[in-house]
Amino acid sequence: MGTIWMDAHCHLSDSAFDNDREALYAELLANDIHGLVLAGTDPEDWQKQSALTLPAPLRIAKVFGIHPWNVDDMTPTELSRAVDQLEKSLGECHGLGEMGLDYYRAKTTEERAKHKLWFDRQLELAKGRDHPLILHIVKAHHDSIPQLKRHQKSFRGLIHSFWAHPDVARSYIDMGFLLSIPPRIMKEDPHQILKLLDPESLVFETDTPFKNASGDIMKPVLIHPMLEYIAAARGEALDIAVARQARLLSNLFPILKG
Ligand SMILES: [Zn+2]
Repeated sequence: MGTIWMDAHCHLSDSAFDNDREALYAELLANDIHGLVLAGTDPEDWQKQSALTLPAPLRIAKVFGIHPWNVDDMTPTELSRAVDQLEKSLGECHGLGEMGLDYYRAKTTEERAKHKLWFDRQLELAKGRDHPLILHIVKAHHDSIPQLKRHQKSFRGLIHSFWAHPDVARSYIDMGFLLSIPPRIMKEDPHQILKLLDPESLVFETDTPFKNASGDIMKPVLIHPMLEYIAAARGEALDIAVARQARLLSNLFPILKG
């Protein structure tokens, strides 16, 4: 068996992929990408994740949660209903998220309080369960870290699209999280994440779909140039980097084990 590639975070259920899923799956398999961690945004998305029918040996970790951007768009009634539905759906998903605080989006005290409230409600739901968490934290680490510590001492999960100082990284790593690093690492590493942090604490994500500068829709196959870049930057063999990513992600989400 050859090397198995995995993506730590993508939105396979996104409507950008609706037109040509068969071609997308064929492309993933042709590129030895067999494992994807998904990330939930709202109840409609959870249904779409559950409805995906994947060709073997492609495997997904279904992750259900209310994304902070969706929290912005939903009323308190819709949000309570969604949390109730999330509780009833715990048996259907393999992880919870993406949830968290986004202070780039939420600028006012009221907007931030709303993010904190629904992050709290989802953390409450996660307590005492095995589901790893996928957290979306943007410009809000000073609030998310104490908020997490009020809930639990230790966690399992990923800090999605992590892009902050290694000191912030270590706070999350000490709580048990892995950091999931986005594609921009191929352009710059201003915080020296690759140099300063233990490879055993880092995974890499495409967060696809998104449009690149030329307007092309980027797909999870982007994990190839990413891990090639990472291996070269670290001076290690590519298959070591690819195998580490698969091991770290399948330890967190056993469903991804082939
Ligand atoms: Zn995402």
